[in-house]
Amino acid sequence: MLRTHTCGELRKNEIGKKVDLCGWVASRRDHGEIIFMDLRDKYGITQIVFDPDKNKTSHELAHTLRNEYCVRVSGTIAARPEGTVNPKLSTGEIEVYVEAIKVLSESETPPFEIKDTGNLSEDVRLKYRYLDLRRPTMQNKLTIKHKVYKYIYDHLDAEGFISVETPTLTKSTPEGARDYLVPSRLHQGSFYALPQSPQLFKQLLMVAGVDRYFQMARCFRDEDLRADRQPEFTQLDMEMSFIDQEDIFAVCERLFKGLYSEVTGKNIEIPFPRMDHSEAMSLYGSDKPDTRFGLLLSEMTEDVKDSDFKIFKEVISAGGIVVAMSAPGHKDISRKEIDTLTAYASEFGARGLAFFKVEESGLVSPISKFFKPETLETFKRKTGARTGDMIFMVADKKDVARAAMGALRLKIAKDNSLIDQSKDNFLWVVNFPLFKYNEEEKRWDSEHHPFTYFSEEDAKYFETGELGKIRSKSYDMVLNGSEIASGSIRIHRRDIQQKIFDVLGLTKEECQLKFGFLLEAFTYGPPPHGGIAFGIDRIITLFTNDISIREVIPFPKTQKGVCPLTNAPSAVEGTQLRDLGLKITAKPEAKGQNEGAGS
Ligand code: ASP
Repeated sequence: MLRTHTCGELRKNEIGKKVDLCGWVASRRDHGEIIFMDLRDKYGITQIVFDPDKNKTSHELAHTLRNEYCVRVSGTIAARPEGTVNPKLSTGEIEVYVEAIKVLSESETPPFEIKDTGNLSEDVRLKYRYLDLRRPTMQNKLTIKHKVYKYIYDHLDAEGFISVETPTLTKSTPEGARDYLVPSRLHQGSFYALPQSPQLFKQLLMVAGVDRYFQMARCFRDEDLRADRQPEFTQLDMEMSFIDQEDIFAVCERLFKGLYSEVTGKNIEIPFPRMDHSEAMSLYGSDKPDTRFGLLLSEMTEDVKDSDFKIFKEVISAGGIVVAMSAPGHKDISRKEIDTLTAYASEFGARGLAFFKVEESGLVSPISKFFKPETLETFKRKTGARTGDMIFMVADKKDVARAAMGALRLKIAKDNSLIDQSKDNFLWVVNFPLFKYNEEEKRWDSEHHPFTYFSEEDAKYFETGELGKIRSKSYDMVLNGSEIASGSIRIHRRDIQQKIFDVLGLTKEECQLKFGFLLEAFTYGPPPHGGIAFGIDRIITLFTNDISIREVIPFPKTQKGVCPLTNAPSAVEGTQLRDLGLKITAKPEAKGQNEGAGS
């Protein structure tokens, strides 16, 4: 080893010892004769002292040291003189007097200072990610991530799971996104797909008798990179045989309880509450409800269907609904603020936002006159509004009205600091619909994925054609309004799987081509099974207190899918294309120098 200790290790009880330390020059301060240097490595900072009386050569060399030079220092530990102890540093009671120093490598002036304070542009951070990662906070994030992985491995191992790898060069898995394709050289004109998830392989592992599988799986989805998505990300992927939904919940709850206690020392209560998808949608306007605050939605459709208000009546006769919510203390908000909220609701498709001020005397609104006094009283009662509040309403198609009101609920809570940030509200959302109707393409899609089993009670709706009524055996784990995991009990019978493919409009040939191997495997005694996958990057941000998952991915892409460090994706040599039998017809797109990472 080039070193006897790390830069975060030395304490007072080692005074007088000779040590060798390696690290980077974090700063150099010339105090007349004496030169001080902070030497930094992953573990901390140690103050190094160059005293010409103790070692002249080293002292001379110290003048040439610049920040981020990588050096090896040999010296003796001494107590810091009284008044110079630094309580902020773990090594703050000692310093090392240099006897020899060797520059291991020099450094250019870095594009930013390697320290935790300051507002750095994300573009620059990603371009020089290796320098960004050198900063102590980023080192800490890598360590937290490692600890989470280690805990998961140990915990699941103790619960009888084994980690099994699945291929990266594979065939398309239907998780609802576009595939990344890899052209085959040996089979020109054919492509591998990068896995959107290991879904089909983990099911095959159950057919193989693996019984309890997990994997930290890289997943690849070619989606428009909205907000906080990454083209490649990591899932904790799990699958179990001979279980039901509650068994999976119990395994996951134990895992989370243990993980939280390990990483944060916090105790989280298990079991987590369960909420029906229909309840989540009607009360929270979302399938990932944030239950840390109230502001519940209520439906007024029945109450207003015979009113004189034309807009509501038209929406209802076209099959829409009217959803209301009371915003506490909002009675006197300005017209401008109402316009802002209306514009916000319209981002979610709402065509308008009705509002009623709750006065002592009753509900005041430009549209109050269209409703009977008892109906206005019902608005107040159902929303739980009090004097001083404002009742908002959206009338629209069911999905739009709920989504808009759900979004408004979150905005009002955030804007008015109504969310108790100290809470960790975990819950399971259950009983999702099995299918959702795709209006554009006039066909049914799977709400989760086509391998999801359904509630046997609802099987009759296959016969009646009321496919929207069939509840699936899929579930999401939600924490404080974010979906952190999603899974389902799977279909394990070939005939039933075929029936789902039929509903989805896949021809026999398509089924054979895409999923023939799964259907065939299901002819060899597949066990009942089910599983789940956690978005691990999002989970790590819970422990690092970050908002963006890019903070906890060592080498992330920007929002436009570019890696500013390597400049991938990039053009390839003509010979490579020829080998693959490919010809580019599109013009190469300029990615730009400062391609936006953040914003
Ligand atoms: N493969 C699913 C997904 O990636 C998760 C699962 O059903 O286990 O969302």
